[in-house]
Amino acid sequence: MATTNRRVITFHYTLTDPEGNTLDSSIGQEPLAFLEAGGQIIPGLEKVVQTLKVGEKKRVVVPAAEAYGERDERFVLKVPRDELPEGELQVGDELQAGGDDESHPLLITEITDAYAVLDGNHPLAGMNLTFDVELTGIREATAEELSHGHVHGPGGHH
Ligand code: ZN
Repeated sequence: MATTNRRVITFHYTLTDPEGNTLDSSIGQEPLAFLEAGGQIIPGLEKVVQTLKVGEKKRVVVPAAEAYGERDERFVLKVPRDELPEGELQVGDELQAGGDDESHPLLITEITDAYAVLDGNHPLAGMNLTFDVELTGIREATAEELSHGHVHGPGGHH
Protein backbone atom coordinates (compact mmCIF):
# COMPACT_ATOMS: atom_id res chain seq x y z
CA MET A 1 0.00 0.00 0.00
CA ALA A 2 2.73 2.47 0.90
CA THR A 3 4.01 2.66 -2.65
CA THR A 4 0.71 4.09 -3.87
CA ASN A 5 0.69 6.87 -1.29
CA ARG A 6 1.48 10.36 -2.41
CA ARG A 7 3.89 12.29 -0.22
CA VAL A 8 4.20 15.85 0.98
CA ILE A 9 7.70 17.09 0.22
CA THR A 10 9.13 20.23 1.74
CA PHE A 11 12.19 22.04 0.43
CA HIS A 12 14.06 25.32 0.37
CA TYR A 13 14.97 26.75 -2.99
CA THR A 14 16.74 29.61 -4.64
CA LEU A 15 15.83 30.25 -8.27
CA THR A 16 18.31 31.95 -10.59
CA ASP A 17 18.13 32.88 -14.26
CA PRO A 18 20.86 31.96 -16.80
CA GLU A 19 22.78 35.15 -15.91
CA GLY A 20 22.86 34.16 -12.24
CA ASN A 21 20.33 36.73 -11.04
CA THR A 22 18.21 35.52 -8.13
CA LEU A 23 14.55 35.56 -9.18
CA ASP A 24 12.99 33.99 -6.12
CA SER A 25 14.03 32.24 -2.93
CA SER A 26 12.47 30.62 0.12
CA ILE A 27 15.53 31.25 2.27
CA GLY A 28 14.52 33.22 5.35
CA GLN A 29 10.90 32.11 4.95
CA GLU A 30 8.97 28.88 5.31
CA PRO A 31 10.21 26.21 2.93
CA LEU A 32 7.87 25.31 0.09
CA ALA A 33 5.65 22.26 0.60
CA PHE A 34 3.95 20.43 -2.25
CA LEU A 35 1.82 17.35 -2.77
CA GLU A 36 3.42 14.89 -5.15
CA ALA A 37 1.84 14.54 -8.57
CA GLY A 38 -0.39 17.53 -7.94
CA GLY A 39 1.04 19.76 -10.63
CA GLN A 40 2.00 22.28 -7.95
CA ILE A 41 5.60 22.82 -8.97
CA ILE A 42 7.12 22.72 -12.42
CA PRO A 43 7.55 19.15 -13.73
CA GLY A 44 11.29 19.36 -14.38
CA LEU A 45 11.89 20.37 -10.76
CA GLU A 46 9.43 17.91 -9.20
CA LYS A 47 10.98 14.86 -10.83
CA VAL A 48 14.39 15.65 -9.30
CA VAL A 49 13.16 16.79 -5.88
CA GLN A 50 11.24 13.49 -5.57
CA THR A 51 14.53 11.58 -5.65
CA LEU A 52 16.23 13.51 -2.81
CA LYS A 53 16.60 12.51 0.83
CA VAL A 54 15.98 14.85 3.76
CA GLY A 55 18.99 17.13 4.18
CA GLU A 56 20.23 16.56 0.65
CA LYS A 57 21.13 19.59 -1.45
CA LYS A 58 21.17 19.72 -5.21
CA ARG A 59 21.47 22.17 -8.08
CA VAL A 60 18.77 21.45 -10.64
CA VAL A 61 18.87 23.07 -14.07
CA VAL A 62 15.44 22.87 -15.66
CA PRO A 63 15.25 23.50 -19.40
CA ALA A 64 12.58 25.98 -20.48
CA ALA A 65 10.43 23.23 -22.00
CA GLU A 66 10.12 21.55 -18.57
CA ALA A 67 9.72 24.85 -16.73
CA TYR A 68 7.37 27.53 -18.11
CA GLY A 69 7.59 26.41 -21.74
CA GLU A 70 9.13 27.98 -24.77
CA ARG A 71 8.14 31.47 -25.83
CA ASP A 72 5.31 31.53 -28.34
CA GLU A 73 5.32 34.54 -30.66
CA ARG A 74 1.60 33.98 -31.35
CA PHE A 75 1.03 35.35 -27.84
CA VAL A 76 2.60 38.66 -28.86
CA LEU A 77 -0.15 40.98 -30.07
CA LYS A 78 -0.13 44.42 -31.64
CA VAL A 79 -3.29 46.18 -30.49
CA PRO A 80 -4.63 49.59 -31.61
CA ARG A 81 -4.33 52.13 -28.80
CA ASP A 82 -8.08 52.86 -28.83
CA GLU A 83 -8.86 49.21 -27.96
CA LEU A 84 -6.88 49.52 -24.75
CA PRO A 85 -8.03 50.96 -21.41
CA GLU A 86 -8.04 54.74 -21.07
CA GLY A 87 -5.35 56.47 -19.12
CA GLU A 88 -1.63 56.30 -18.66
CA LEU A 89 -0.05 53.12 -19.93
CA GLN A 90 3.64 52.45 -20.18
CA VAL A 91 6.12 49.72 -21.05
CA GLY A 92 6.22 47.24 -18.18
CA ASP A 93 2.55 47.64 -17.21
CA GLU A 94 0.39 44.52 -17.18
CA LEU A 95 -3.15 44.27 -18.50
CA GLN A 96 -5.53 41.45 -17.63
CA ALA A 97 -6.98 39.56 -20.57
CA GLY A 98 -9.52 36.80 -20.83
CA GLY A 99 -12.78 35.86 -19.19
CA ASP A 100 -13.84 35.29 -15.63
CA ASP A 101 -12.27 31.91 -14.96
CA GLU A 102 -9.18 32.29 -17.05
CA SER A 103 -7.51 35.65 -17.01
CA HIS A 104 -3.84 36.04 -17.62
CA PRO A 105 -1.53 39.03 -17.65
CA LEU A 106 -0.36 40.70 -20.84
CA LEU A 107 2.84 42.67 -20.50
CA ILE A 108 3.17 45.92 -22.46
CA THR A 109 6.52 45.72 -24.28
CA GLU A 110 6.08 48.68 -26.64
CA ILE A 111 3.61 51.56 -26.77
CA THR A 112 3.02 54.45 -29.14
CA ASP A 113 0.09 56.84 -29.68
CA ALA A 114 -1.25 54.41 -32.30
CA TYR A 115 -0.75 50.96 -30.84
CA ALA A 116 0.73 48.81 -28.08
CA VAL A 117 2.58 45.52 -28.27
CA LEU A 118 1.33 43.07 -25.65
CA ASP A 119 3.21 39.91 -24.67
CA GLY A 120 1.12 37.12 -23.15
CA ASN A 121 4.03 34.75 -22.58
CA HIS A 122 4.90 33.83 -19.00
CA PRO A 123 7.77 36.10 -17.93
CA LEU A 124 9.94 33.00 -17.42
CA ALA A 125 8.95 31.33 -20.72
CA GLY A 126 11.91 30.40 -22.89
CA MET A 127 14.27 30.56 -19.94
CA ASN A 128 16.35 27.73 -18.53
CA LEU A 129 15.99 27.95 -14.75
CA THR A 130 18.46 26.94 -12.07
CA PHE A 131 17.16 25.87 -8.67
CA ASP A 132 19.42 25.29 -5.71
CA VAL A 133 17.30 23.09 -3.50
CA GLU A 134 17.64 21.59 -0.03
CA LEU A 135 15.13 18.96 0.96
CA THR A 136 13.80 19.65 4.46
CA GLY A 137 10.99 17.15 4.92
CA ILE A 138 9.10 14.17 3.54
CA ARG A 139 5.91 12.72 5.00
CA GLU A 140 2.86 10.90 3.77
CA ALA A 141 -0.03 13.08 2.72
CA THR A 142 -3.12 12.91 4.93
CA ALA A 143 -6.47 11.75 3.56
CA GLU A 144 -7.74 15.29 3.94
CA GLU A 145 -4.85 16.74 1.95
CA LEU A 146 -5.41 14.18 -0.79
CA SER A 147 -9.10 15.05 -1.00
CA HIS A 148 -8.34 18.79 -1.10
CA GLY A 149 -5.47 18.33 -3.53
CA HIS A 150 -3.10 20.56 -1.56
CA VAL A 151 -0.84 20.62 1.48
CA HIS A 152 -2.03 21.70 4.94
CA GLY A 153 0.14 23.12 7.68
CA PRO A 154 3.47 24.96 7.39
CA GLY A 155 4.26 25.90 3.80
CA GLY A 156 0.77 24.91 2.64
CA HIS A 157 -2.81 26.11 2.88
CA HIS A 158 -4.96 26.86 5.99
ZN1 ZN B 1 -7.43 22.14 2.31
